[in-house]
Amino acid sequence: MRKTVIAGNWKMNKTIKQAVEYIEELKSRVSDVDDVEIVVFPPFTALLEMCIATDKTNISIGAQNLHWEKSGAFTGEISAEMLREVGCGYVIIGHSERRQYFGETDESVNKKIKAALKHGLIPVVCVGETLPQREEGLTEQIVEAQVKRAVDGIAQDDIAKLIVAYEPVWAIGTGKNASSDDAQQVIANIRDVLKSIAGDKADSIRILYGGSVKPDNIGGFIKEQDIDGALVGGASLNPLDFSEIITRSRGK
Ligand code: PEP
Repeated sequence: MRKTVIAGNWKMNKTIKQAVEYIEELKSRVSDVDDVEIVVFPPFTALLEMCIATDKTNISIGAQNLHWEKSGAFTGEISAEMLREVGCGYVIIGHSERRQYFGETDESVNKKIKAALKHGLIPVVCVGETLPQREEGLTEQIVEAQVKRAVDGIAQDDIAKLIVAYEPVWAIGTGKNASSDDAQQVIANIRDVLKSIAGDKADSIRILYGGSVKPDNIGGFIKEQDIDGALVGGASLNPLDFSEIITRSRGK
């Protein structure tokens, strides 16, 4: 049994004050939810307040990025150890916006995953094809290569701890979601790739869909056999929408 995960990526949004107001609203709306793992990814500046506000609740907090080194001369970067100290349990790695705008590569993704695992953070590893790649029929090939490079040199037991998010780049923030059939097919293929590397241990890996998930389309994704939840961007910024997505993901 894989517990459903609903994760909210706020990207570069919300001040500390806005974050705290949001989390109080979310807490009251989802307090009875025990069958969905709820994770919110605020910007770095709000992490501490958010970890304090969600202490001993059913909501966990994660960061949107990290650096693979422990410490040192890396201006502007934050390490896994620092995120653990603040109270984070999760970290997004390899989001397409980081790949696109900040030079993230499969190699840096791999290093970041290793650093996160070493310090007890659960990596949420993002993979997905661009529109031209999809149009050329390269989706499975691209995603497969991203997954293989992401877990290169990582022990099977550690691979089993990952959460993977399949996020077609063309569906992120565009309002154009993949069909649930297409997402299921790619995600089933990701699971096969992970099984070929980690054997039966891969059965426990949660694989999420991400890309324009909203309250009115989450139901279609969650009923698919291999889709274990969603990474939600825009719709996670509103606690009403996000709590609705969580509620509609229950009972899988
Ligand atoms: C994301 O940023 O991971 C994402 C899926 O964004 P959106 O839901 O806005 O498409």
